[in-house]
Amino acid sequence: MVEVVKRIGLMGGTFNPIHNGHLVTAEEARVQFALDEVIFIPSGKPPHKSERKIADAHHRAMMTLLATVTNPYFHVSQVEIERPGYSYTYDTVSYFQELYQGQAEIYFITGADAILEIIAWKNVEQLFEKCCFIAATRPGFDLSAIRSSDLPQSAKDRIFYMEIPALAISSTDVRRRIREGRPIKYLMPSAVETYIYKNKLYLK
Ligand code: ATP
Ligand code: MG
Repeated sequence: MVEVVKRIGLMGGTFNPIHNGHLVTAEEARVQFALDEVIFIPSGKPPHKSERKIADAHHRAMMTLLATVTNPYFHVSQVEIERPGYSYTYDTVSYFQELYQGQAEIYFITGADAILEIIAWKNVEQLFEKCCFIAATRPGFDLSAIRSSDLPQSAKDRIFYMEIPALAISSTDVRRRIREGRPIKYLMPSAVETYIYKNKLYLK
């Protein structure tokens, strides 16, 4: 029997809220790297963001679902939300390796800023044995900090770069706009915008 290895993109994030920067990045990665699907994984409450206002996990998961439902290649996993405590990327990637019984090549999609945080982690070499990374950069992004890090060359070879149009959208800016009564239209799918207002999210 011929073994069919699937190419799976994982897109982790707080998604507080999800916006078009996330969606453009995931779609570009899917096409450039011929991924069979991209799975969005909203995080549980990450400790490093705990001081900031984070909407309840069920709201973030619902907005992620609303944002991705029209793309047949996009899916949402609740694995990090359902797991107690903070989820490490290593555990999440291991979960999907097991789910696909080793019959998947996993590509973890992140912004290049997030790659810098990841390569500073402990046990990062084990993580690179489990998956590759696709780092979204903006045109002109300086890669020297990644290239000059002490990450072994074998791991560096597993980071692929993808330039995406300069989308200066961030969840932080979206939340600030809502607090200040400024528009968020066209920064995210309209169903997400409606959901935010309907549930009075991010007003303070
Ligand atoms: P916050 O402003 O609260 O940090 P964020 O907009 O960075 O939120 P996250 O949920 O933290 O969103 O990001 C999830 C992933 O998406 C991270 O890997 C991040 O680097 C990436 N990302 C976020 N915004 C963009 C964007 N505009 N273009 C490309 N990648 C992005
Ligand atoms: Mg961020």
